Amino acid sequence: MSECIWNQPGSLAEKFWKDGKADFPIYDMHGHMGAHYAIYFKICEAPEMVAHVKRIGVKRLVFSHHEALWGTFRNARVYEICKQFPDTLRMYLSIVPQREDHIREDIAQFDKWAPYAVGLKLLPGYHNCDMMDPRYDYALSFANERGLPVLVHTWGNDPAVLKAIQKYPNAKFFIAHCCYGAWDYAIQCVKESNNNVWLELTAIPGDRGIIEKLVEGVGSERILYGTDMPWFDEYQGVGGVLSAKITDEDKLNILSRNPERILGKDF
Ligand SMILES: [Zn+2]
Repeated sequence: MSECIWNQPGSLAEKFWKDGKADFPIYDMHGHMGAHYAIYFKICEAPEMVAHVKRIGVKRLVFSHHEALWGTFRNARVYEICKQFPDTLRMYLSIVPQREDHIREDIAQFDKWAPYAVGLKLLPGYHNCDMMDPRYDYALSFANERGLPVLVHTWGNDPAVLKAIQKYPNAKFFIAHCCYGAWDYAIQCVKESNNNVWLELTAIPGDRGIIEKLVEGVGSERILYGTDMPWFDEYQGVGGVLSAKITDEDKLNILSRNPERILGKDF
């Protein structure tokens, strides 16, 4: 593992510390939007969020709206929000397993919602439904057929995660929070997959040594950057990755190159 290079002249971190902005495109692959009963967000609606992430150099923010995850409004409305900020916003279709009628109707619109809809978002723990539950099968089979990204909330060691990864070997699973705390299990999920798994860093920047452990475990090509914005701030996230004791090549893979490899340069 390389030394920390944040203050080395010409390093990504040194430039960022000076400018407060990246000179390469950042892809935040895990965002949300909208107010939430459990917390006060100063910045949580599209115009303010887009302005905020642009300041730091985010090219795309891929998000699922809180209200769509709770089922209080539909993905069609999220598509309308994306259309207002076509240069920045992309969406995951929120999949609410209790609403199988909505899942089918919304997935039928997926192509119509291009290029904004890029994948699906699953929230198994909050929806009381593990990834192997048959209510997810229609959505996961669709992702599997198309090779689509599926951002899935994970926390700790949930055996259904690896089972689903192996059951749908062509879906591209983005493991949100890297099975937070169960780091070795997250690494196992990548290693025992059909090369269809990436670990997504939300909540991890700031936890000392974890980014380094994950890069060592699976390689930086298998790690994606995300913030859960507005829950965590973009500056905290980017600062955490740039401060990690990994190489500049690793940092560029995580912040910039991997999403382009998965979804194409101009998704
Ligand atoms: Zn989230």
